Amino acid sequence: MLIIKRPGDLSKTISERIFHAKTIGLVPTMGALHQGHLSLLDECKSHCDIAVASIFVNPAQFNNREDFKKYPVSVETDIYKLERQGCDILFLPDVQDMYPDPSKTQHFDLAHLEIILEGKYRPGHFQGVCSAVKKLLEVITPTSLYMGQKDYQQCLVIKKLVLLLKSNTQIVICKTVRETDGLAMSSRNLRLTEKERKKAPALYHALNIIKKGLNHDNVADVRKQACSILRSADFNIDYVEVADGNTLMPVENIKTPNKIVALIAASINNIRLIDNLIIHE
Ligand code: AMP
Repeated sequence: MLIIKRPGDLSKTISERIFHAKTIGLVPTMGALHQGHLSLLDECKSHCDIAVASIFVNPAQFNNREDFKKYPVSVETDIYKLERQGCDILFLPDVQDMYPDPSKTQHFDLAHLEIILEGKYRPGHFQGVCSAVKKLLEVITPTSLYMGQKDYQQCLVIKKLVLLLKSNTQIVICKTVRETDGLAMSSRNLRLTEKERKKAPALYHALNIIKKGLNHDNVADVRKQACSILRSADFNIDYVEVADGNTLMPVENIKTPNKIVALIAASINNIRLIDNLIIHE
């Protein structure tokens, strides 16, 4: 596996290799890699001639400084995992490489996606995500970009970004990888104490209660049940929402042919976790 730090070096390597390869896949990450990240890489490798992973803990997407400072970093182990998984190139830029001129910040018109759910609770977060992904798209020009359904709203934001940039990159959304007790894998899980870790599957439990409950109860009632499960597990709730899967606008009536998704964001001891479940396609 090649490890490249400078964007210019990566662009050069890509343009040299593209003569022999038709497709380049990109898996952007913030590191502290787990099986969820590696499943994206597997998907990428099975469809693309060159698999590129990036690790960049993007300061621009953290609206909370403490969260940024406490974000787990394990570059050496990540390199080992990527190498073992057959990654071709790891892009490991630093902040100056990604943002050489901090005074030049572009605003992306994300419309309502910027102010609902994650956008509401993490102001500026998606602008930061878009700045980093735009740079990755420019440097790597991937055929496909692999993302996890775990960050459902982020997937919609990046689809919108690709449209705004008139990019040809295809966005591939891969299913959420879970621990055996249902907890969605997340780098943030590393920060949970043993006691908190035991309570954390309440998120997935609450999502399943919503899915099951919606067969006979209304949205308001199942949301109440989900909230009570989360509170009993000591979660502070940001949102429990049932929404249209394409727009993320809340729905009160799920008897529609549209895709419906349930989404939760909640914190346990200030460790904020998110998860979602498709109610119907
Ligand atoms: P992160 O490093 O948290 O920014 O995540 C990098 C990519 O991995 C994003 O596209 C995430 O949606 C995806 N991802 C994170 N956790 C999981 C998971 N449990 N299953 C599948 N994909 C995931």
